[in-house]
Amino acid sequence: MAWNVVVVGGGFGGFNAARAIERRVSPESVKVTLVSEQNFLLYTPFLPEAAAGTLEPRHVVTPLRELLKHTRLQLGSMTGLDRERSIITIRNAEGDPQEIRYDRLVLAPGSISRTLPIPGLAEHGAAFKSLADAIWLRNHVIRSLELAETVADRRRLDELLTFVFVGGGYAGLEALAELQDFAVDALKMYPAARAHGMRWMLVEAGPRVLAEIDPDLADYTVHQLRRRGIDIRLETQLRGVTAHEIELSTGEHIATRTLVWTAGVTPNPIVRELGLPLTEHGRIAVDASMRVDGTDEIWAIGDAAAVPNPISDSRPSPPTAQHARRQGIAAGRNVAASLGTGRAKPYSYRDRGSFVNLGRYKAVAMAGRLKLRGPLAWWMARTYHVSQIPGLSRKIRAVVDWTVSLPFSRDVAEVGSIGHPRRLDHPNSSAEAGRAGSVDSPGAEAPEADGDVAPKDRRQT
Ligand SMILES: Cc1cc2nc3c(=O)[nH]c(=O)nc-3n(C[C@H](O)[C@H](O)[C@H](O)COP(=O)(O)OP(=O)(O)OC[C@H]3O[C@@H](n4cnc5c(N)ncnc54)[C@H](O)[C@@H]3O)c2cc1C
Repeated sequence: MAWNVVVVGGGFGGFNAARAIERRVSPESVKVTLVSEQNFLLYTPFLPEAAAGTLEPRHVVTPLRELLKHTRLQLGSMTGLDRERSIITIRNAEGDPQEIRYDRLVLAPGSISRTLPIPGLAEHGAAFKSLADAIWLRNHVIRSLELAETVADRRRLDELLTFVFVGGGYAGLEALAELQDFAVDALKMYPAARAHGMRWMLVEAGPRVLAEIDPDLADYTVHQLRRRGIDIRLETQLRGVTAHEIELSTGEHIATRTLVWTAGVTPNPIVRELGLPLTEHGRIAVDASMRVDGTDEIWAIGDAAAVPNPISDSRPSPPTAQHARRQGIAAGRNVAASLGTGRAKPYSYRDRGSFVNLGRYKAVAMAGRLKLRGPLAWWMARTYHVSQIPGLSRKIRAVVDWTVSLPFSRDVAEVGSIGHPRRLDHPNSSAEAGRAGSVDSPGAEAPEADGDVAPKDRRQT
């Protein structure tokens, strides 16, 4: 009889674990099931470029079915764990509860944005974590420029043309840099917005940005971004957000309708529902082989787990794709070993380096002891990421997108209605509403434009 191995989460950790198991153990001996909320793997390092339009959004994801050979993909969301009966419960793609039995379980549900109890943040802040977030933000920036062409009131222009990011880690900084670059290019087509001027701002509570890389490179980054007119506020905190302004710890009130919150991540809340041991930071506690403390049959990896790394004094690995990917491969090997194939090994990984893309052919990079900045770092970052995105077709598509975008100006088509087809009886029902090929309920309609752009609560505009 075949063993049942269940992997939860189709991201860097989960996908690599499933692939490692199916590569090591024959399909006759093991049935691998990957429970994933989406049928694709999102290559998050490319999200800022998907938002800025240098990469087509579909090209930053790879279908899991294309990458996995013998693994059964089960779309759904894990809702609970019953260790007595060795089952997990999920809500399947239809929304119905379902049970899946396991002999071995690998948990890789990732993380969510870490928010703080700041008044108005949950209602008016936007995250930058998923493909939907990236597409929404791009459409929101374009729509803000469009609306700025239609209003004369200076206060409303300030609100529409001020874009604030909170959190100076690499994800937030790259998103800000790429989108500002995109907006500066796009501004050529918006005379009223150009005459009024845009304002891009980064708010960081700490004394420096990019805490994870060398201070020299962080200083270079700040210098480059300030030269581009980006207002960078260090040692400053967000105090409150409304639909029309933010308040900072300096007492300033800044008119804006765009607040992007990129101030770190926290483990996916599902880990709190499983009855497994957690560390003080809420990650699943595991041993050096990534087996969950106090269990024989469950492993946890990626952003959701505190995996000790002997290379860095057994401190938990940081929440990065580099680690999640290697932990997935290593956990797959250890699960196979527990089924009698190969030998288990503890996790250990030395960071290869890090890249922060600043747009405009500039980046900063740390590769071992080597510190690079400017166009060479930018070229290295692109080369590295192309080598890492899974699937040959995605590698080629990324290179083609970049090549095609070189001679042409930015695409400012705002396609927020995609995925929100209008009802058949809508008075303005038209072909561009995007019904063709959609399997969504026709009632899922994009709200009408009403001259207002507010974050999050109006995401479809
Ligand atoms: C904008 C951005 C840029 C980044 N750039 C870099 C970079 O350049 N380099 C780098 O190393 N790291 C980068 N990261 C971090 C990196 O994306 C994460 O560390 C990595 O994705 C973590 O892998 P994971 O497998 O733990 O989680 P994820 O890759 O997030 O995968 C988790 C998966 O689990 C699914 N899931 C969640 N809950 C459930 C549930 N209940 N049931 C079933 N499935 C569930 C999710 O839908 C998701 O598919 C970036 C992150 C962001 C947001």
